[in-house]
Amino acid sequence: MTDTTGTPARKRLLIRTWGCQMNVYDSARMADVLAPLGYAPTESVEEADMVILNTCHIREKATEKVFSDLGRLREAKQARGGEMVIAVAGCVAQAEGAEITARAPWVDIVLGPQSYHRLPEMVARAARAAGAVIETEFPPEDKFDHLPETAAPQGVTAFLTIQEGCDKFCSFCVVPYTRGAEYSRPVAAILAEARRLVALGAREITLLGQNVNAFHGEGPDGRAWGLGRLVRSLAEVEGLARIRYTTSHPRDMDEDLIAAHAEVPALMPFLHLPVQSGSDRVLRMMNRGHTADDYLRLVERLRAARPDLALSTDIIAGHPGETEADHAATMALIRAVGFAQAFSFKYSARPGTPAATMAGQVEEAAKDARLAEIQALLREQQTAFNRSRAGMVADVLVTGPGRHPGQMAGRTPWLNPVHFEGPESLAGRIVPVKILAGHPNSLTGALAAPLHDQSRERDAA
Ligand code: SF4
Repeated sequence: MTDTTGTPARKRLLIRTWGCQMNVYDSARMADVLAPLGYAPTESVEEADMVILNTCHIREKATEKVFSDLGRLREAKQARGGEMVIAVAGCVAQAEGAEITARAPWVDIVLGPQSYHRLPEMVARAARAAGAVIETEFPPEDKFDHLPETAAPQGVTAFLTIQEGCDKFCSFCVVPYTRGAEYSRPVAAILAEARRLVALGAREITLLGQNVNAFHGEGPDGRAWGLGRLVRSLAEVEGLARIRYTTSHPRDMDEDLIAAHAEVPALMPFLHLPVQSGSDRVLRMMNRGHTADDYLRLVERLRAARPDLALSTDIIAGHPGETEADHAATMALIRAVGFAQAFSFKYSARPGTPAATMAGQVEEAAKDARLAEIQALLREQQTAFNRSRAGMVADVLVTGPGRHPGQMAGRTPWLNPVHFEGPESLAGRIVPVKILAGHPNSLTGALAAPLHDQSRERDAA
């Protein structure tokens, strides 16, 4: 619909996002593709003309949570006399498309993660269709070629998807089924998007991919570039001060990428490197393709390249077949590495994955006990890491105001949130902050240089 000037009538769009940073990125891009149709963001269900649930299949009972949300949206839609487009996107949509339309016929659009560039066309089709419009195939065309070039500003820190999908087929994971085979974007498209993000105010970019270090995008020379080479090239982008990447697989950590950690100052000394278990038996059952010792040796090489590297990981407690001895091996690996951060989960079956039907499913009580032990140790390590920052002067990228008046927030090179007193004009700059104290989840500090003393600022920009 357009008004008399020919511009689309203003409509309101609410996107609810669950799960990983890739979903956060996807939600931003869905908002981008719908903006030309007149959709502007809202936080209110009551005023939304369209609601998108961008779902995640990783969390326990994800599908049921989507259905309970859809139940509430049905009432909201009825209250508006049916004038609301409801879409389910993301991995639950991909995996459960048919069930969604059967159980929630008030849903208008179901779209998998490879189809969101088709949203405008699907919205138009939904307006004409009697039933739901479903797109959960893996379309052969590259969705990235069909997205608008002018991304909405993401702020001082931005995400940029460079790779999607996965060919590794870990026993417990739905990603290879929901996101499809590994795909890497061409280098030129990534560099162009990075420049746009910087022009829109980004100082730090986190490169995203389900298996980001499996990146092998086509370079300008026609050859496949690895992630190390891409990082070196991105480090040349003027105004881009910091680069990060996530999520990595230990098997894809090649020499060039490890060397980049030593040689590229813009590559931040923080790495999320999931290990999942410290037991070789369980790692084999998980189809991870590496041993605990492989992981420990890799950590040694990374720390040799970048001695101040902070490591983060993912751990699963109670994978089928896991014994107390396997759990003890996981605890030993965590102690041996010393993580600065970590995500730990109780194993829960994902339908369609090999682990879901494996023999030796672990009792819930045992899973709970193991997870509690793992989390207590990880919490201790995180607090110790944060406390070890006290007394240092850290370069802090200021992201915006803190929670309290006069307070600013930012992040260290090791991704710790930091709070300190300072003027709002610091937003977007990198300033030296003396760390005064480390807490379990954040740091507090004070500006280390008087603001008029420009010569001491790390950020000359
Ligand atoms: S490598 Fe990561 S994304 Fe791929 S199957 Fe394993 S856990 Fe899933």
